[in-house]
Amino acid sequence: MESVECVVAGAGVVGLAVARALALAGREVLVLEAAEGIGTETSSRNSEVIHAGIYYAPGSLMARTCVAGKRMLYAYCAERGIPHRNCGKLIVATSEEEAGRLEAIRARAAANGVDDLRLTAAAEARAMEPALRCTAALLSPSTGIVDSHAFMLALQGDAEGAGAVFAFRAPVEGGRVGEDGIALRVGGTEPMALRCRLLVNCAGLHAPRLARALEGMPAAQVPREYFAKGNYFTLSGVRAPFSRLIYPVPVPGGLGTHLTLDLAGQARFGPDVEWVERLDYAVDPRRAESFYAAIRRWWPELPDGALQPGYAGIRPKIVPPGAPPQDFVVQGRAAHGVPGLVNLFGIESPGLTASLALAEHVLRVAAAAR
Ligand SMILES: Cc1cc2nc3c(=O)[nH]c(=O)nc-3n(C[C@H](O)[C@H](O)[C@H](O)COP(=O)(O)OP(=O)(O)OC[C@H]3O[C@@H](n4cnc5c(N)ncnc54)[C@H](O)[C@@H]3O)c2cc1C
Repeated sequence: MESVECVVAGAGVVGLAVARALALAGREVLVLEAAEGIGTETSSRNSEVIHAGIYYAPGSLMARTCVAGKRMLYAYCAERGIPHRNCGKLIVATSEEEAGRLEAIRARAAANGVDDLRLTAAAEARAMEPALRCTAALLSPSTGIVDSHAFMLALQGDAEGAGAVFAFRAPVEGGRVGEDGIALRVGGTEPMALRCRLLVNCAGLHAPRLARALEGMPAAQVPREYFAKGNYFTLSGVRAPFSRLIYPVPVPGGLGTHLTLDLAGQARFGPDVEWVERLDYAVDPRRAESFYAAIRRWWPELPDGALQPGYAGIRPKIVPPGAPPQDFVVQGRAAHGVPGLVNLFGIESPGLTASLALAEHVLRVAAAAR
């Protein structure tokens, strides 16, 4: 049986960042990706927002890696010429009740080390974004947008430059934990058996399933997966009259139907929250109705017929609907007892922003997992 020191299962943004960090640390790395290319699942089905680190529980892995990851991502984009823009965002309250919640959001952000949020009155918000209707707003200056595909290509380039090897159409189907490492069964176009000293499970939506397929991994430590689809609608025939990202006050399960802009200035609205049983990325045009209602609360001039179904992404949740938000889970030997295995579960938003910092965290967990 062939052997390799480290296997990273999954080449989404997180797997790529982990592979890069391992390779730059001098480790021998093989990335096994089920699809035909990098980043075809959640990493290319998101809002491409560089999140500031506002909403997450202080001290949580999400909060820490988002805030650190944001700084690392801006620096990396600048250094590598990756298209991005620090455009800022407004969190808008459309009622007195919502306005009352803005201060709590600001305080939580400050507890996460994001101390540049500024409360603005309706008039000031309107001076910044004349088409906006709100009772008050919070300005987040460090929020931005990034070309996620260019970012992923740069990560892949760095990893390959440091010696990592990529195999596509190579799903890890299962394996067995032994004294001398983890024996893996790899399917796809060239099925093979492979042994590794370290397996980092970055399979996103499929990470719990992959962990369950590893003999020797205690099933009780593998969370059940839940899928929360986020649908997007795009704007056709009109240009959105906003230069910043516009977010409502958050709703349970997601950040609310917000407006993000891509680097070409094209607007997209979403994602909403639709709990689903299977992975299905079709956007039901009938959902437009609730989008019109949500958007018109802060952009009353949104013309009839302007919204077109866009795309969808699916949040890899590990808690059911109605449960309190769940932190990122990076599980090493201390958590599950298996040497040489690191599982990543529940890497939903802000996983893109956090990816570079999350990779550093994974390396620390991996060092302790030996
Ligand atoms: C609707 C939505 C909006 C979001 N918006 C933002 C945002 O604006 N900003 C932000 O920071 N974050 C955002 N996120 C979060 C971010 O997109 C994710 O955290 C991130 O993309 C997760 O990356 P990943 O590498 O863990 O997963 P993925 O990108 O899903 O990659 C997993 C990879 O593993 C592969 N794979 C699966 N099973 C196997 C196997 N058995 N063997 C080998 N390979 C396998 C898959 O093919 C896939 O390529 C959003 C997420 C969603 C759903």
